[in-house]
Amino acid sequence: MEKFDCLVIGGGMVGATTAVALADLGLKIALVDTHRPDSNLLDNPGDYDQQQDYNLRVSAVSLGSEQLLRSLRIWQQVQLWRVTPYRRLAVWEQGLSYAEFHCDQIKQSHLGHMVENHLIQAAAWLQIKARSNIKVFAPQKLSKIENREDGITATLGDITIESEILVGADGGNSMVRNLAKIGTSGWDYQHSAMLINVKTEQDQQDITWQHFVNGAPVAFLPLSGNRASLVWYDKPQTINELVNLSSSQLQQRIIEHFPKRLGNIEVIDKGAFPLIRRHANQYVKNRVVLVGDAAHSINPLAGQGVNMGFKDVHALQEVIAKAIGSGEHYADASVLRRYEKQRRNDNLLMMTTMDLIYRGFKQPAGPIKLLRNLGLFGAQRMGPIKDKVLAYACGL
Ligand SMILES: Cc1cc2nc3c(=O)[nH]c(=O)nc-3n(C[C@H](O)[C@H](O)[C@H](O)COP(=O)(O)OP(=O)(O)OC[C@H]3O[C@@H](n4cnc5c(N)ncnc54)[C@H](O)[C@@H]3O)c2cc1C
Repeated sequence: MEKFDCLVIGGGMVGATTAVALADLGLKIALVDTHRPDSNLLDNPGDYDQQQDYNLRVSAVSLGSEQLLRSLRIWQQVQLWRVTPYRRLAVWEQGLSYAEFHCDQIKQSHLGHMVENHLIQAAAWLQIKARSNIKVFAPQKLSKIENREDGITATLGDITIESEILVGADGGNSMVRNLAKIGTSGWDYQHSAMLINVKTEQDQQDITWQHFVNGAPVAFLPLSGNRASLVWYDKPQTINELVNLSSSQLQQRIIEHFPKRLGNIEVIDKGAFPLIRRHANQYVKNRVVLVGDAAHSINPLAGQGVNMGFKDVHALQEVIAKAIGSGEHYADASVLRRYEKQRRNDNLLMMTTMDLIYRGFKQPAGPIKLLRNLGLFGAQRMGPIKDKVLAYACGL
């Protein structure tokens, strides 16, 4: 039976980053995933072709997340592959109700970057490969855990692992959360999101925008070389119908549904995802700690999901580093609860704000429509408060 300081289940963007962050504190880490990421990127990172098609799954990575990834030497590799900075962010519904945020407001050169999820994950796995104190078990699946007050015993097929703590980073349908009997609250938004990669007629953009049409947003995320990712939120039946259209039919529907500023486009790729809100009732139970989507799945409206996960990683790394520095045992419940205290309320605030915005904009007419348009009109003129909101959204 092998013994580790920390067992991380799930090597997605958040889990792989957690493994690197805790390894940098000197802990001996085991990382488990049911899959290995793209082996071409891991075996031959220098052969990456920047002209290749974009992957559908892209994330708006905030400045705060960039700082964390840079400190772990993950960002430097992602940057060598492919990132697209955005400097402006706009939200509007109609006419004067337009709010635009600019990186100059917070004295930064950009607000964030659009990055393909698989590149962040692969760059984190390269850092895992570079550290001798991380052992990878993949492909392997967790089947059982014994979560005692004094330690963890985990079973992966016929392998048994002993660990001081177990970090559940295994996504929205977390098996760790279920095995640890941690309940959740949440609901299905009865909406789906369709991601559409397109080639745009216009030159490279530095703005990401959301336009609310008939109570649901459509969003534009700029990618490099006249590429962009569009997000269309709608009822699941409508999204199902759209996914099954031919590219030229979908193109026509996009031109009718998206604002005129989009210009002509060519559809390259498309896919749909259900929108679910889920929040774990606890982030810590005995020696089990939840991070990322295992702890919280949020409406992707403002592109905060993985950024919240990276904030979890940063907080966990800090809490454990301080405990080690002050001679406490990092796996003590009192230490791990400091992480939960820091992150759960902050995540709840972000999730609730996104829900209020989403539900507020779903009202097609009447006083709520007037109120939100006044809100956007006012937001554009809020001065220092607007700068503070922007800095918070950028994770600063
Ligand atoms: C349409 C859409 C758009 C989004 N856009 C944005 C955005 O712009 N910005 C943003 O910040 N966020 C965005 N998000 C959210 C973001 O994608 C997620 O928050 C993020 O992917 C979560 O990462 P994770 O590592 O926590 O989980 P996951 O990416 O789900 O990774 C979980 C990992 O665990 C592994 N695993 C699962 N079960 C097991 C098991 N039993 N044993 C071992 N391994 C296991 C999986 O193989 C996987 O590698 C969006 C989400 C959606 C749906």
